[in-house]
Amino acid sequence: MADMGLLVIMFFFGLAGGIVGRMKGSSFFLWFLVSGLIPFFGLLAAVCYRWEDRELRRQCPGCGRVVKLHDALCISCGTELEYPDVAIASEASMRERAA
Ligand SMILES: [Zn+2]
Repeated sequence: MADMGLLVIMFFFGLAGGIVGRMKGSSFFLWFLVSGLIPFFGLLAAVCYRWEDRELRRQCPGCGRVVKLHDALCISCGTELEYPDVAIASEASMRERAA
């Protein structure tokens, strides 16, 4: 039953990685797979993975909403977004500016 033990370990690593990934605003399922298929290193990758919140942001030219740099469409008004020449700032530093 050694295989069962391995499956259980993979499952729990997957679960942990998925939760970490989800907490960081990424996909639970993606990190569940990564961490489950590569136990330990996958989980490590999830822990080291950048927080989505700290990703670069920019403003939509259509409605002014702040969207993620890599978004192709504005989630608010649906304007197609060109890949920008310059990133404006991370959400964290935008918050500082607003304060
Ligand atoms: Zn917009």
